[in-house]
Amino acid sequence: MIKKDIRSYTLEELQQEMESIGEKAFRAKQIYEWLHVKLVDSFEEMTNLSKALRDKLESQYRIPLVRMLERQISKIDDTNKFLFELEDGHVVESVLMKYKHGNSVCISSQVGCRMGCKFCASTIGGLERNLLPSEMLGEIYQIQKISGERVANIVVMGTGEPLDNYENFVKFVRLLSDEKGLHISQRNITISTCGIVPNMKRLAEEGLQITLALSLHGSTQEKRKVLMPVANKYELDEVLKACDYYFEKTGRRITFEYSLVQGVNDRDEDAKELIGILQSRNCHINLIPVNPIKERDFKKPSRKSAENFKNKLEKSGINVTIRREMGSDIDGACGQLRRRYVKTTENLEK
Ligand code: SAH
Repeated sequence: MIKKDIRSYTLEELQQEMESIGEKAFRAKQIYEWLHVKLVDSFEEMTNLSKALRDKLESQYRIPLVRMLERQISKIDDTNKFLFELEDGHVVESVLMKYKHGNSVCISSQVGCRMGCKFCASTIGGLERNLLPSEMLGEIYQIQKISGERVANIVVMGTGEPLDNYENFVKFVRLLSDEKGLHISQRNITISTCGIVPNMKRLAEEGLQITLALSLHGSTQEKRKVLMPVANKYELDEVLKACDYYFEKTGRRITFEYSLVQGVNDRDEDAKELIGILQSRNCHINLIPVNPIKERDFKKPSRKSAENFKNKLEKSGINVTIRREMGSDIDGACGQLRRRYVKTTENLEK
């Protein structure tokens, strides 16, 4: 029998579970608090439960493992990168970034990714599996415990495509923002998607207040296809309509992400076309000078050329920022820490 994942239940679900094993519903409240406020990792630590109940829980439920394997701390800006091991031996990475306005944690939503974006390290080995709600929470809970820092903002921009793991992702958001749990405001949670249209629409209808970031990376359907295979499935027009729908339903302004690749999408005509897309929309665009990965031959534009690109958009009244590079002295781009680890262990096994 596979033991059930107790950290992925909402409080109501946990109450039903407790009743189903002959326990009083109020036990669920105690257990939920241990799991989501006191952030314990074993039943043994739940000291206000009897030994008999702890044993009973242990025999039927599990708290899926998220265990730190490695922590790198940037000497430049104190960014922390974490590598976590999961119960089946897979590894994921998460990042803690310290800003003046509070700490942000960037988490992974899948082990690997199947979206195939050309410049991204996370997708090279394909998708291994989806993360459970409890595992996404676990990344944050462990970081909060290990660093002793209060986490204020969450960005789901690590490895994986959150809208390709839809139900688990939505459950994760509900648990994370639950006032009886860690209670992180939904307005402080941002999810980034490559543009899976049906699930963007579904997300718009969930009644959540999270920020949606869309990875654009190309200013026309044809250009988007060069960098993002997912564009073969969903046309740029449809993706933009889904963004508008999200804004209409939630009132949350969309963020567009645009990774600047030298000579590929950073030319004058690209800026012009982008202005055409963005000018009529209530949005914000974040330019990310591409972080080159060993496996691909993409170059980062110079600082000056990125600034030029930014200025062009700004002159047309568009809200634009260039993403500040964090932790550049520790395994740089998304997914590179995990990739290094996976490669090393593969070599050891040979
Ligand atoms: N699957 C989600 C999250 C990806 S990571 C998505 O596609 O949006 C967050 C952002 O970083 C995405 O916009 C992604 O395209 C971008 N990104 C990934 N690797 C990058 C790299 N090496 N350089 C610059 N941006 C990168």
